[in-house]
Amino acid sequence: MSIAEFELIQRYFASASGTADDVVLGIGDDAALLQVPEGKQLVVTVDTLIEGVHFPPQTAAADIGWKALAVNLSDLAAMGAQPAWFTLALTLPVAAPDWLAAFSQGMFTLARQYGVMLVGGDTTRGPLSVTIQAMGWVEAGSALQRGGAQVEDGIYLTGTLGDAALGLAIVQGRLSLPAALQHALLLRLNRPEPRIAEGRLLRGMAHCAIDVSDGLLADLQHMLATAKLGARLQLDQLPLSDAARQAVAGDPALLKLLLCGGDDYELCCCVSPQDVDRLMQQAAADDLRFTRIGTVESETGLRCFDGNMQRLLQQEQGYQHFEREEA
Ligand code: ADP
Ligand code: MG
Repeated sequence: MSIAEFELIQRYFASASGTADDVVLGIGDDAALLQVPEGKQLVVTVDTLIEGVHFPPQTAAADIGWKALAVNLSDLAAMGAQPAWFTLALTLPVAAPDWLAAFSQGMFTLARQYGVMLVGGDTTRGPLSVTIQAMGWVEAGSALQRGGAQVEDGIYLTGTLGDAALGLAIVQGRLSLPAALQHALLLRLNRPEPRIAEGRLLRGMAHCAIDVSDGLLADLQHMLATAKLGARLQLDQLPLSDAARQAVAGDPALLKLLLCGGDDYELCCCVSPQDVDRLMQQAAADDLRFTRIGTVESETGLRCFDGNMQRLLQQEQGYQHFEREEA
């Protein structure tokens, strides 16, 4: 490791990473030593963001820092885990101080919000790419998984759907809306909120869960395919933000973008009829948003209905009507 590299790590990452009782040894040695709490299982996930593939080249450094961590925390949320630690493998074309300061600030703003500690990483030179590995824990045996849906389960979604896809369309110049609406949608694209509290609440309540990163239809299909089941969806019940609602009112064709666009990082889950009241009561008490969007059925594939029970879209197993808008 060169002096410059050492200083870079020290200045932008080690000094901001903090301390925690469960970090026996953090940044600076050959590897980190972490203490998993008694009776918990370690939950580990990793995701890479590459410039030009996962974010457009003009994306602000602070947004890249936030999002690289957020997408990983979202995977932990979908398992019902409590996030605790993360590592960062950063590949940079040049070590630009302004870029590094903004990147670090965006990443640590989110890290502090959830009390997750940066415990190590790797720094290399090359085309811009950010890999974060997030780790957390879950009470042994209680992790949420993708399999386990049952016929008659209610299908629930956190937050609102499709804002990130609309935000991407704005970035790509394919959609133009009033400035205030654009701002709200771009925020959802660049600063997704991992649904940690929602995931924790779903332990012991949901049969299964997944985070929506590739689009609702694709991810719901993944989850239900694991159980060889299908679903009916009520498109009139989809939780839409004010901005998305106005966008769709102006152009109904945008609905397919909401259903198939990725990058929302909301949780989608299946809840037994006998648990839905408990879920909604607890969600209301904790000020968490869950919306019922459909019901699990024995017939595979997804059937989408409007408010008049007209079938608008049939998505068969393994076949997609709409091509995914690449995020
Ligand atoms: P090694 O050659 O042993 O892998 P490195 O030079 O890669 O050592 O890293 C030195 C220390 O700095 C290690 O503790 C490593 O985890 C940490 N580190 C390197 N890059 C980063 C980074 N981008 N963020 C956080 N910690 C980092
Ligand atoms: Mg190394």
